[in-house]
Amino acid sequence: MIVMKFGGTSVESQEAIARVTRIVQSYEHRRPIVVVSAMADTTNKLLRAAAEAEAGRRDQALGLVDEVRTYHLTHGLALAGAAAAELDRYIRAHFEWLDDLVRGISVVGELSPRSMDAIASLGERLSSLIVAFAFRSAGMPTQYVDARRIIVTDDRFTRAQPLLEQTYARLEENVRPFTEESIVVMGGFIGSTQNGQTTTLGRGGSDYSAAIAGAGLGAEEIQIWTDVDGMLTADPRIVPGGHRVKSISFAEAAEMAYFGAKVLHPATVLPAVE
Ligand code: ADP
Ligand code: ASP
Ligand code: MG
Repeated sequence: MIVMKFGGTSVESQEAIARVTRIVQSYEHRRPIVVVSAMADTTNKLLRAAAEAEAGRRDQALGLVDEVRTYHLTHGLALAGAAAAELDRYIRAHFEWLDDLVRGISVVGELSPRSMDAIASLGERLSSLIVAFAFRSAGMPTQYVDARRIIVTDDRFTRAQPLLEQTYARLEENVRPFTEESIVVMGGFIGSTQNGQTTTLGRGGSDYSAAIAGAGLGAEEIQIWTDVDGMLTADPRIVPGGHRVKSISFAEAAEMAYFGAKVLHPATVLPAVE
């Protein structure tokens, strides 16, 4: 069993998701569990919509929500094949919920960390659903799992810490049984408290989710697929032409992530070591 995590750029469009589908298909014999980030800029846009609502700019907030809705419908439905109508209903229901929430926030002018997480979680809830539908329509046996039923966290909203013992028990109970027959798809970044309130693991947290799933299930590998060819000797957005690091120790990877190499969430290494 392996874990394959795909970042925001890797699922940013129907073409990108089709590519992910082919990649995962080529690993089917290794029983992959697939963890996905929100599509491209979605988390940023959702949080911007939340901030606009908090500032009382309701129409701007609803406009942003509408942009994100159209984007998901356009790219999501294109790959769902015969199940497109079903996925269409799911996606629209999620956005109706978000419309209501954004209206409520703009009326009271208050945005709690808990509401922020409820809103930010939508990106991964949608991307995982869309990817699961794409896999199924490509003929792959697929099981969608809501990550909030798996990753149990404390209640430090927007930067929640996973409660590993409980999370591992949930993985055992709600993910392991599917792994023999199906490719499990779940969103990264999101979890929930013991009381079932939605939380997030902090920005870039999907890598961390993948590592937690890998550790809990004793996966052979945790693969992080992204838009660069690996860890580079420098951030390519600041220093172009850096070199790819062919192999790196856990300690070095953790240190690079800690000092800002955004390619890996800093907390990812510890569960991987496990
Ligand atoms: P994902 O959505 O796949 O998690 P991120 O944008 O979070 O992708 O991380 C990948 C980005 O990290 C790369 O596009 C690159 O710009 C940036 N990055 C920063 N430092 C490094 C580094 N040392 N090596 C590789 N990429 C880096
Ligand atoms: N979508 C989340 C973020 O933008 C998590 C992730 O991409 O890893 O922070
Ligand atoms: Mg990332």
